[in-house]
Amino acid sequence: MGFQTQIRDALSELEAAGLLRRPLQISGPQGPEVEIDGRRVLCFCSNNYLGLADHPSLVAAATASARGEGVGAAASRLITGTMDAHREAESAYADFVGAPAAILFSTGYAANVGTVPALAGPDDAIFSDALNHASLIDGCRLSRANVHVYSHRDVGHLESLLREHRPKSRRALVITDSVFSMDGGAAPLRELSSLARFFDAGLLVDEAHALGVFGPEGRGLAAALGVEPDVVVGTLGKSLGVAGAFVAASEDIVSLIRSRARSFVYSTAPPPMVARASIAALELVRKANDARDALLANAAKLRAALRSLGFEIPNGDSQILPILIGENDRTMQLSAKLLARGVFVQGIRPPTVPEGTARLRLTPMATHRPEQIERAIEAFASLCRQE
Ligand SMILES: *Cc1c(COP(=O)(O)O)cnc(C)c1O
Repeated sequence: MGFQTQIRDALSELEAAGLLRRPLQISGPQGPEVEIDGRRVLCFCSNNYLGLADHPSLVAAATASARGEGVGAAASRLITGTMDAHREAESAYADFVGAPAAILFSTGYAANVGTVPALAGPDDAIFSDALNHASLIDGCRLSRANVHVYSHRDVGHLESLLREHRPKSRRALVITDSVFSMDGGAAPLRELSSLARFFDAGLLVDEAHALGVFGPEGRGLAAALGVEPDVVVGTLGKSLGVAGAFVAASEDIVSLIRSRARSFVYSTAPPPMVARASIAALELVRKANDARDALLANAAKLRAALRSLGFEIPNGDSQILPILIGENDRTMQLSAKLLARGVFVQGIRPPTVPEGTARLRLTPMATHRPEQIERAIEAFASLCRQE
């Protein structure tokens, strides 16, 4: 059989399993409403939680940088790509999360697949939550460390794995999302931190969905709980509305990452204007207490209303609302029906979530007005009446 035919078969299999992905196209900026095929719809699936993606201050910072510093970074950071913008951004991130140093990556995905293997190798053990983000899972695989997966948020299970496997390994690293991206629950960071300390393991916390939302000035869930992880990953494409990620840690850890993380060493540095826009975003995020309150109030209102309509939403009080459906095709059909009613809510299928747990993942923004939240609830209510 020819290669092209084999590929066609692979596509047919995905299609039959309800797993073929066809992204919708957005015209114009990201916001509480977006334009799809010439139609304005409410957007309830972006990670642009605070509405900063098209904020004038970020646009001004990016524009001024493009005029003054150009667009491209010309090379890897280690060749000729380290520019003033990168250094200034890194000190702003370190300062934000209260770490001695930080290092900028092009994306959160690149940060995780680079950082985990830089910190743990074949002689080491990694202890990883079962629902960690795909980029952490891929980082674990690339590290060739012995990876022990503990049940989701199960501190007892983690402790027994540490007891069994920690003594056999050189270094050990405990890895977790802080707010889980597809479930919205929070990691038990205090317990994880004391276990890591007891077993002489490092703790890496990925704050992708908590940065900007939780903690004083939006500094993340670890800051909210008074936990000091050895390594904090923060992404710049979600609440901060830009793109990229940083890893904040001690000078030594950051030095090791700078020399060993392959996604840093062998990749062109992010455009300076992206770094400048993220600095502008950090300044806004620090002052965004009202927006954080509005975001979590919108989430609470939706959660209560959808539950009373009979939808199953697991416990949690973050801005991420998973509406469990189960079956892949049915999930995508519900997503299409909501879109027809003017509300864009993405369906999430395996392997992003475990088999049989396909879901709608609803994420409000701080900038959704009460009337827009009502319209979203009404769209779900009309689904219920029709079914
Ligand atoms: C989104 C996400 C990432 C990836 O970040 P990008 O900047 O989108 O590549 C990493 N970790 C977690 C927990 C995420 O939710």
